[in-house]
Parts: sequence; structure tokens; C-alpha cells
Amino acid sequence: MVDLKLSKEKKFFIETFGCQMNQHDSEKVAEALINLGYSPTPTSSEADLLLLNTCNIREKANQKVFSRLGALHQTYGAKPDAKIGLLGCMAQMEADNIFKKAPRVDFVVGSSSYSFLPDLIARVEKGERKVIDVSQDTDRLFEINTQTRKNPYKAFVTIMEGCNRFCSFCVVPYTRGPERSRPTQHILSEIQSLVNEGFQEVTLLGQTVNSWTDSQGQVNCFTDLLKRLAEVRGIRRIRFTSPHPNDFCPDIVDVIENFPVVCNHIHLPVQSGSTRVLCRMKRDYTRELYLQKVEFLRKSKREIALSTDIIVGFPGETQDDFEETLSLVELVDYDSIFSFKYSPRPGTEAFSFAEAVSEEEKSRRLQVLQQFQRKIQLQRNSKMVGKRYEVLVDGSSQRGTKTLAGRTTQNKIINFPGSQELLGKLVEVQVTNFLPNSLQGELVEC
Ligand code: SF4
Repeated sequence: MVDLKLSKEKKFFIETFGCQMNQHDSEKVAEALINLGYSPTPTSSEADLLLLNTCNIREKANQKVFSRLGALHQTYGAKPDAKIGLLGCMAQMEADNIFKKAPRVDFVVGSSSYSFLPDLIARVEKGERKVIDVSQDTDRLFEINTQTRKNPYKAFVTIMEGCNRFCSFCVVPYTRGPERSRPTQHILSEIQSLVNEGFQEVTLLGQTVNSWTDSQGQVNCFTDLLKRLAEVRGIRRIRFTSPHPNDFCPDIVDVIENFPVVCNHIHLPVQSGSTRVLCRMKRDYTRELYLQKVEFLRKSKREIALSTDIIVGFPGETQDDFEETLSLVELVDYDSIFSFKYSPRPGTEAFSFAEAVSEEEKSRRLQVLQQFQRKIQLQRNSKMVGKRYEVLVDGSSQRGTKTLAGRTTQNKIINFPGSQELLGKLVEVQVTNFLPNSLQGELVEC
């Protein structure tokens, strides 16, 4: 039970590191804080309560948080009453170790304990220090209302949390806990209220989003859930991320073909193109099986855009293995990739693997892969010139407010001149030029 009476108006600032799950968690946390009487501030130095929502997926992300804490130490030295809290995956993994490394931190809340946050903050406000909760609150996890969406047109909706797969390189099963799926009715009603509030697009979130199951047996599987959601009155676009290749069946193609509101873009993480490496990563599929999944997606009448995640320099990855990754990238002809150097994470199985690839070699492979993919993207994007696409306008381009930015249903970014009145609208744009990561276009006037 929360018993928190703020003696004066207090401000909070949340800095988010890492993935979309973290971004959405920060929205949930922001709402919990507003309900407690805090108000948001866009400037960290003004905050009475400063939260860092952390990531632990790579060592670099982890180091970033500690260097940020170092910088904040100076700012907050002048503001001794301000409280600092660490949230997220790094908080979950490092737990009370954080207080030793960063003594200015007042509290630590793991990525599975956000529903306890109000109680924990009440304790901190009463003067308690080194408050910690890294328990895995499996039942109450999803049910925090989130009115505090960052983007007024596109919303994240968590449909499942956690992961049971234990890939040998990944911290997620340890930080986010076991798989828990959210009940169908809760997902449906959240999406209906988002649509009623004017949101155009929802992205369903889950660590392995297509492993979602309905514990109440109302809906058979993830693709059936998609069909139910596609029938929500007024919904314009549905995305989902990230699916696991093993849980994909050909019926996803039927859903994408029969329900135009389901976007024709799939992010299908492959991690490596070598079966030998995939086996050591414990991915549970081979190169051939992954390519079979791609083949049925590519047969769709709606051209499905594909993106992926790739790790280079996994322990024991040889030049031949790496070349298999390059050949898979060429075969699949991805629309985009997220590529990373392998980063050993304490607590994971691969942390103790021998045959480490040198940092220099990892960097070389990453550069080769990224240049290779850049050419593929240039070629793919060049084919879009002259064609028209429906774009959800969701911001201004980095070039200024007279240039709008939006995404096609294939998740391609298109920048085009237009007035701010178009923000939040679905418009038709003709592509006039291309770059590796975005397109330029012109509004098609009706
Ligand atoms: S399936 Fe994804 S989240 Fe789960 S362990 Fe593997 S990489 Fe991590």
C-alpha cells in the first residue's frame, strides 16, 4: 500500500537505454510517477527524482550507464536531496552490487518489479537508502495503465514478457525472467482504448513475441491473436517485435495477406548464418531451417520486408563461419540489419567459452558486414523510386520542421516536404530519391 505525500511539487526525469521494451517500460514508470504526484521535466538537472532505465545486453551499454552516473554525480552533488534510481536489466543483473560501484544511487528496481515502484519510492522519500527490489513479479507485470505515451500516434503494447530459450549469449532470461503471456482480453481492451484515443499504430512487444499463448484458451496462438486484433474497430496498423524464427509457421503469411492492417514487415533475428555457430549459440534452428522460413515469407503476395539481428565474432566463429553469414545476408536480401560485435555477458553460458575472437577481428568483420549490407540496402531502396507508398507521418525530419518523416507499412523511413498539420495522418508519398537507410519523396495531393 503506497503512503506517499510529497511535501512540495517534485519533478522526475527518466533516461532510457536499450530496446523498445525498455522505452515502453519507461512510459509505464512515468505514469506511475505522475499518479504519485510527480511531474515530468525535460531537463535532468532540474529533477528531484532521476531514473536511469538500463540495458545489460552488451558491455558497452553497461559501461554507458556507469559513465552517465559519474557525470550525474557532479550535477547532483549540488542537489543533495535529489534521489537517483536505477531500473531495468542491468539493475536486475547487478542488484546490490550497484550500490558499491555507484554509492550515490538511492534505489535499484529490476525489470520485473515495476509494479512495486510506488511502494519503493515511498520508502526512498521517507529517507530510506539502498532500497532494492529485483524480484520477478510475474502476475502484476502487464497491468499498469499507460497514458504517458512518448509518441501520440504510435503506441507499444506489451503482450508477453520474459524468455525460456536461454540462448548461450543472452542475459534476457535472467533479467526478464520466464515467459508470461498477457490475457487476450487485456490486450484487446488496451488496443481498443488506444484506437479510441486516436493512436494509428500499435506495436506488440515481447522478447519472443510469437511465443505468446493464451492461458485461458480463448485464442489458439499468436497468429490467431493477430487476426483478433486486426478486427479491432478503427485500428490502422499493427506491428510486432521480435519473433523467434522457430515459432513462425506459414500461416503468418495468410494473416499478413488477409489483414492489410497487419504491417508487411518482419524482424526475424538470425544472429549467424553458420549452423555450427547457431548450435553453439543454442538458437535451436539451422541455417537451412531459417532460410525455409524466409522462403515462405518471400512467397507472399504482399511484399514482406525483412530485417534481422546479427552478432559477429561469437567465440569460435571462423572466417568460414563469417562468410556463411555474409552469404545468408546476400540470399535473404534483407531490407535492414542490426549488427553487433559479440559482447561476453557475465552469467551467460557463452561467457566461459574459449576461442574468443580478437576485438580487432570482430571490428573488421562488423565493418565488412555493414558495408556489404549497405550495398544491398542501396539496391533495394533504388527500386522504390517512382512508386507510391502510404506513410504514417510521425515527426519532422532531422533537416527541420518543413520536412516531415514517416514510415511505410514495410517500416521504411520516407522524408518529404509538408506541413506540420499532417502529423499523425496516413498520407500517400511518391519516392523521388534514396539513401541506404531512408528515402526521399513528395506528397501525392488527392
Ligand atoms: S530468444 Fe531472444 S531473448 Fe530469448 S534468450 Fe534468445 S536472444 Fe535472448
